[in-house]
Amino acid sequence: MKILYVCTELYPLLKTGGLADVGAALPAALQAAGCHVRLLLPAFAAIAAGVRADGPAVPLPAAGGPQVLRTLQPAPRLIPGHVIESGQPVYLLDAPALYQREGGPYQDAAGQDWSDNAARFALLGWAAAALAYGADPHWQPDLVHAHDWHAGLAPLYLKLQANGRPAKPSVFTVHNLAFQGLFPASSCAELGLPQSLFTIDGLEYHGLLSFMKAGLQFADTITTVSPRYAQEITTSEQGCGLDGALRSRSEHLSGILNGVDYELWNPATDPLLNAHFDGKRMTGKARVKRALQRLLGLEERPDALLFAAVTRLTEQKGLHLLPPILPELVERGGQVVILGSGDDAIETALRDALERHPGQAALRIGYDEALAHRIIAAADVVLVPSRFEPCGLTQLYGLRYGALPLVHAVGGLADTVTDCSLEAIDDGSASGFVFHEFSSDALRGAVRRAFALRRRSADWNAVQRHAMHQRFDWQEPAHAYRALYQRLLSIPV
Ligand code: ADP
Repeated sequence: MKILYVCTELYPLLKTGGLADVGAALPAALQAAGCHVRLLLPAFAAIAAGVRADGPAVPLPAAGGPQVLRTLQPAPRLIPGHVIESGQPVYLLDAPALYQREGGPYQDAAGQDWSDNAARFALLGWAAAALAYGADPHWQPDLVHAHDWHAGLAPLYLKLQANGRPAKPSVFTVHNLAFQGLFPASSCAELGLPQSLFTIDGLEYHGLLSFMKAGLQFADTITTVSPRYAQEITTSEQGCGLDGALRSRSEHLSGILNGVDYELWNPATDPLLNAHFDGKRMTGKARVKRALQRLLGLEERPDALLFAAVTRLTEQKGLHLLPPILPELVERGGQVVILGSGDDAIETALRDALERHPGQAALRIGYDEALAHRIIAAADVVLVPSRFEPCGLTQLYGLRYGALPLVHAVGGLADTVTDCSLEAIDDGSASGFVFHEFSSDALRGAVRRAFALRRRSADWNAVQRHAMHQRFDWQEPAHAYRALYQRLLSIPV
């Protein structure tokens, strides 16, 4: 089974969120599960700089147009300067005028969406279809797996370019429904898409062209990254205006939980830590905590309950719920560390709140992979109070590193964390703290429960051990995707 995996981010070369982690880990897991996977990504400068050419370029069927370059994916290793090639082939869509520029993959340095995003990502979908129908004479996928709105036109182009042949099947995975790729109606003609598709049952979304909706309408199968989120997005509360479209395709919609790459996220071997630990020997965790407290100017109190968040600072992530409860949290002897970047207003509100507690609270603005590992390893509790969360990765990292997740009961957070109710503690299933109403008061309740459990050290240790033993690796999700591909290709599962 040959699969073309179409996405825009690839850890460690280019990452704005979990999409990059998945892009690095899932193709390799699929390969291990017996699929032949190649990736297609835009040749963004950061990606092109990190891979090496491997074979001749593939011209695409457009006069003087772009070409795809065959390269090898670097294995996701953290050690700087040691990019090891894993042998997984990548096609880079080489269109310098569209992709080689300063700034982010979707936005310029000032945070404004690139004005030509419609053309930039339409080309990605179009190139996927071109490869599917034989642009590379040496390799033709059986199926295209497109990720998020950036690749949302791929399923449509597969239908449009079929030219009387049976259309190649496609899977479309929604990593975050809130980012939809909306463009003026005029883009439809500019991109050469048939105007007849600009309807409510097609590409139209409140008078705009929606790449996300294209993926939802034209993919043969839709997946999202947790079973709970798959249900939630069919409701008006969480459907971002696309719940109707999703309900109409509900028989083709399912949720497959993301996994974690435990080669990168393992407290017993993590090269970014000053000490190591596992479920049996936890003294290393105390040393990591002390080193982090020193690094960030926190009081070096081993018994301080350390709450941490590593996150984009956007409304979605819910950290604006924290400031009202910070005084109580510190009063109870807790400490807080936040690493993130994002909205100016949220950054400012957090800075104002945390600065009032010198020695007990620290904020680091920015993106820092190494610090992220050290924070998760040092923390007692990982905060993930997201308003909505398709899957979430940091709660899974927290489980592995014995930092109990404290989460809002939505999406993948609800699917992966079991609250420390007395029943759950008793039956050994408890792994964290879960609150249900999206409010500072509900967050406060969960924080209090964390302090209460910490005072019962035998229970705390049992919950922590259970959390650390849980495994959310990529093997199971890869088998679930493979079964989906097999069904689409009518191969017996
Ligand atoms: P999302 O994709 O919505 O941002 P996820 O939890 O799925 O959220 O994935 C976020 C990924 O990005 C995780 O691997 C997390 O560790 C990482 N991350 C987020 N913010 C930062 C940061 N400021 N520094 C380092 N890593 C970060």
